[in-house]
Amino acid sequence: MASKIVLLVCDGLGDRPVPELGDKTPLEAARTPNLDRLAARGITGLMHSLGRGLTPGSDTSHLNILGYDYREYYSGRGTIEVAGLGMELRHGDVALRGNMGTVDAELKIVDRRAGRITDTSPFTALLDGMEIEGVKFMVKPGTAHRAGIVVRGDGLSAKVTDNDPHEPGVKVWEVKPKDDSPEAARTAAVLNKFLARAHEILDACEANKMRVAAGQPAANYLLIRGAGFYRHVPPFSERYFGLKACCIAGGGLYKGIGAYTGMTLLDVPGATALPDSDIRAKFTRVREALNDFDFVFVHVKAADSLGEDGNWKGKRDFIERIDEAAELLLDLPDALLVVTADHTTPCALKKHSADPVPVMIVGEGVRVDGVMAYNERAVASGGLGRLIGTDLMPELMNLIGKYKLIGA
Ligand code: ZN
Repeated sequence: MASKIVLLVCDGLGDRPVPELGDKTPLEAARTPNLDRLAARGITGLMHSLGRGLTPGSDTSHLNILGYDYREYYSGRGTIEVAGLGMELRHGDVALRGNMGTVDAELKIVDRRAGRITDTSPFTALLDGMEIEGVKFMVKPGTAHRAGIVVRGDGLSAKVTDNDPHEPGVKVWEVKPKDDSPEAARTAAVLNKFLARAHEILDACEANKMRVAAGQPAANYLLIRGAGFYRHVPPFSERYFGLKACCIAGGGLYKGIGAYTGMTLLDVPGATALPDSDIRAKFTRVREALNDFDFVFVHVKAADSLGEDGNWKGKRDFIERIDEAAELLLDLPDALLVVTADHTTPCALKKHSADPVPVMIVGEGVRVDGVMAYNERAVASGGLGRLIGTDLMPELMNLIGKYKLIGA
C-alpha cells in the first residue's frame, strides 16, 4: 500500500468540444502519451468540485478538493490571499486583496494595475500599520501589482463591497455595507477613510514622483476586493492523520490555499503561473518533496488562463507541456498520484463552467479500470464514477490505509 499522495491540480483543464479541433476538447486533441499511460494504470472518473451544476471559483473548488467544505471554510478570497502572503489573521480580522492602481484627479481609473507595476513594496510600506479610529491596517505586497490587507479592530464585518469598478474611466466606488449591521457600516466607513488617506499619501510620495518623471503611471490608489472574515481552519496534518503536507504553486491564490490549510509552501524558481512556467522544475520538486512530506499539492495554472482567453490552440499546447513534464511522475516511489482540475474553463465561454473535470488516481491498490486515455470523455466510463470534490480526500485516505472504522 502506498503511504504518500501527490495531488496535481491543472487549473481549468476541463473544456467542451471545440469545432476547430474536430469537436475534440483541448485535452482530447492534445498528444498526451504520459497522461494516457497513467490512465491505463489507474482508476478514473469525473468530478464536480462543488456539486452538480455548481460553477466553482478556483478558491472554493480547491478547498473542497482538499476536503475543506467551502460552505464551512470559505469566507471571501481575501482571507486566502493574505494567508499566502504570510499575513497572520486573528479572530475578528477582515482580510482583503488589493491592486495598486492609477487614478486621475477625479478618482477615475486610469490603469487598474498601475502600468503592471512589478513591485508594490515601496507603496505598501507607506500604508502598513496605519490606524484610524482604533482600527489598524496591515498592508503587504503581493506578486506584481497585488497587495494584501488585514483590518484589525473591534466590531468589524466582512459584509462590505469592493471599491474596484474593474473598468478604466470609471470613478472608484465607495465601499458600502452589504447588510444592515452596525459592524458592516463601521467597517465600510473606516475603510473609506483609510482609502482616502492612503490615496493622499501615495499621491504625494517620492516613489510616485519618480514613476511619473519616468513616464510611468503613479501607483496612487488601492483597489480592494474579496473581503473575508477570519475563521478557524484546522491544519491539514490535524485533519488528516498527521500527514505532513506541502504546496508547490506559482500563483498567489494557490500558495494562499496551501497556507490557509496549514501546508508548507515550497518555492520553485521558474514557477510563474504563466504559460511559460517551468513545469518540469515543479515536478522535479515534487519528487524531492516526497522525501520530506506525505502529501504534495502541486498546482499548474495556465490551462485556465488560456481557456479564459478563448485560446484553444494555446490550451492544447500547454496541456502537451504538462504531459511532457508528467514523465517525471510516472514512477513515484511509495505514492499515489492524483491528476485532476479544479473546474472546467471552456474556450468557447472564456470563463468557468459547471461541467465536471477528469480525475484519475494511480498507484498501488487502486482497482484499475478499462480507461486507456486521460480526457473528459474517456474517464466518463471510469471506475470512480462521479465524485463531488469533498469525496476525493476520503477516497485517498482509504487507499493509503488512513481511516477510522465506522461501526464495529
Ligand atoms: Zn481555477
